[in-house]
Amino acid sequence: MPPKAQRDLWPDVSGNTINGLGESAVRRPEPIYHHDPERTRFAALQTWFRGLPSHPLIGKARRDRIPIMEEPLAPLAPTPLQRTSADWSAVVKQKARDLGAELVGIARMQPEWVFDGFDVSQKWAVMLGIAMDHAELRTAPHPRAIAEVVRQYGRGTQVAKRLASWLRAQGWDGFPHGGPDAGPVLMIPPALACGFGELGKHGSIINPDLGSSFRLAYVLTDVPLEPDAPEAFGADGFCQHCRVCETACPPVALTPAKHLVRGETKWYVDFDKCVPYFNDTTGCGICIAVCPWSLPGVAPKLAAKLTRRQQRQVA
Ligand code: SF4
Ligand code: SF4
Repeated sequence: MPPKAQRDLWPDVSGNTINGLGESAVRRPEPIYHHDPERTRFAALQTWFRGLPSHPLIGKARRDRIPIMEEPLAPLAPTPLQRTSADWSAVVKQKARDLGAELVGIARMQPEWVFDGFDVSQKWAVMLGIAMDHAELRTAPHPRAIAEVVRQYGRGTQVAKRLASWLRAQGWDGFPHGGPDAGPVLMIPPALACGFGELGKHGSIINPDLGSSFRLAYVLTDVPLEPDAPEAFGADGFCQHCRVCETACPPVALTPAKHLVRGETKWYVDFDKCVPYFNDTTGCGICIAVCPWSLPGVAPKLAAKLTRRQQRQVA
């Protein structure tokens, strides 16, 4: 049960209902949290959360992000440069890496990834993964970890904006987005579709290099591209037998079984349990910090071991 200050601002509906828990039909997600207040039924709680005094470390990280948020996009060149979709895919990915993204992949946009009330006409989402410093993340829910999340969301926003600017200089429009606020598109589904990893029990992606120690950003565009494929290396099966995040989550928002959510059976974070604790700590992050995949150096070895095991089972 949320603390009284939060209960008084809670709308007359469960966040899990808004998220489509138990629904068998595929539908677009409804904006719920970290969204424009006029779009979410949790506006009152979100406004209260945003007005809470922040720890100096978090305040500094937020202030440092302001110039990034205000950075203008480059003008759109009048004549689009022509290349093959294979060539564009290669140069866009290289540019994203040069700009600082640790992960980059291309997903063909799907309507069910777009929040209700938004229109997205672009064909492609160029997904960006931005590594976090695990030495900071592992202090979660201390403000050090939250400040690191803010910093890396800022870096993701910067990479996305600069990649969009670079595309615009080539004559192709680019629409950047970085967290922590949600934009027009859910970020996890396209990141899974383009091979960033598998969904973990903690509701975040497990990547075979970075574990869950990274943040997402993206650029929407119509430049000709080729999609990347999803990647499975055994993380989902690993989660079936691991309970580290489940037992570490203070409000018990994670469960041992998957749930049906808007037509898909998957790991799910109980919104009504997670968000009050998240609000109290200004960001939590315990579940991704304790995930064994997030420990530096562990993910590549574990992924290789599970892949070898999968190959032996197939042979
Ligand atoms: S963010 Fe915190 S409260 Fe939410 S699921 Fe993870 S550990 Fe639990
Ligand atoms: S802590 Fe364990 S159960 Fe949770 S996401 Fe990581 S591997 Fe999966």
